[in-house]
Amino acid sequence: MADSVTAPGASRALVDNHGRRITYLRLAITDRCNLRCRYCMPEQGAEFVPHDEILTFEEMIRLLGILAPLGVNKVRVTGGEPFVRRGSVAFMGEIKKVPGVSRLYLTTNGVAVAEHLEALQAIGVDGLNLSLDTLDGQRFQYLCRRDLFSRVWDTFTRALARGIPVKVNAVVQEDTNDADILAMAGLADQYGVTVRFIEKMAFSGRDSGSGSEFGRLADRLFALFPRMVEVVDAGPATARLFYVPGRQGLIGLIEGYSRRFCAGCNKIRITPIGILKACLYDNGVLDLKAMLRGGADDVGIEAAIRAAIGRRFVDGMETESRVHRQIEPSMATIGG
Ligand code: SAM
Ligand code: SF4
Repeated sequence: MADSVTAPGASRALVDNHGRRITYLRLAITDRCNLRCRYCMPEQGAEFVPHDEILTFEEMIRLLGILAPLGVNKVRVTGGEPFVRRGSVAFMGEIKKVPGVSRLYLTTNGVAVAEHLEALQAIGVDGLNLSLDTLDGQRFQYLCRRDLFSRVWDTFTRALARGIPVKVNAVVQEDTNDADILAMAGLADQYGVTVRFIEKMAFSGRDSGSGSEFGRLADRLFALFPRMVEVVDAGPATARLFYVPGRQGLIGLIEGYSRRFCAGCNKIRITPIGILKACLYDNGVLDLKAMLRGGADDVGIEAAIRAAIGRRFVDGMETESRVHRQIEPSMATIGG
């Protein structure tokens, strides 16, 4: 069984040129979505990749079979919206069967998930990150351009009722007011969950990132919750975590714009078209699909992955200064 596979010895582990061990893969299985969030996709004319350019599930499982023995034991399935891809739930079950993959998480907008919760629990999904920016149905419709708040809420409450761990991700935008933030933080207190506020980042389909425009999100949260205390050892996490004395749950802060999370980065990404990304801010460092479809064997693919990870930039700032990006890609093509 997956859990009984021992961690790779030092010689097999995937370690970057800064000594950071890679144990976490974010796997974006589609670029399509059933919402059109303003910060992620244009309202109309979103261009999606033709199906035959997207990695097949078999190709993804093969890659996992190469990565897991190197110590990549945590997988997050993301997108686009993972549940719009046909067969995605069965595929999630296959991921959990890959020897060495001990933890499987999903990042989803929750629109088409409630009906799959029983199956997800049977598969052994370890948790959901649910993207939900507001508790106000009208604002949800404005932000996501679809009137589907009730379906997301259904997923949230039914997942919790089943005992599936849920974290909520809320992107904070220029027009997110304090009442929105307080309501979302109230969710943490009421349900004992972690609500993570995300700095909005730029993408080419719309305007710039939020970090510089209306003050750092961290400052806003501290102003709203002056008694907020940082959880000291949150591990190699993307989010800084805080608790407010006397309240349940945790408040998280994902500073993608300010890039505070690079030091302990243990994460790689594979995009729907099979590009390996060593950093959120790079253009991709290896075309895995070309290798898979070009007849490369597993040894060759492993060697290419090691070489790419051995040339990793120290942080997102260095990546951006060294990598020329003509456009800021949508998170839907990366997986967040
Ligand atoms: N569709 C799924 C969802 O929304 O959870 C998974 C993919 S989505 C691209 C992954 C995460 O990226 C979501 O939490 C979303 O809020 C976040 N995201 C998308 N665009 C963003 C942006 N411009 N800035 C910051 N976060 C963004
Ligand atoms: Fe879809 Fe997620 Fe992007 Fe929203 S953030 S448009 S739900 S991929």
